[in-house]
Amino acid sequence: MIEHQRQDVLKEIKHIVSKCDRCGTCLPVCPLFGIKGIELSSARGKNNIASSY
Ligand code: SF4
Repeated sequence: MIEHQRQDVLKEIKHIVSKCDRCGTCLPVCPLFGIKGIELSSARGKNNIASSY
């Protein structure tokens, strides 16, 4: 049952992440990216991480 729920959550996450077209519009408005300058802290970076699972 728990494994089934985990698969459902992963499926939902993949669906959400697939909507990111890597346009980069989020970079200049992301406060974390502005402070750290590390793309992995932006929405696009987080989507890249999530899509690798
Ligand atoms: S998360 Fe960033 S890169 Fe992805 S679609 Fe939205 S604005 Fe574009």
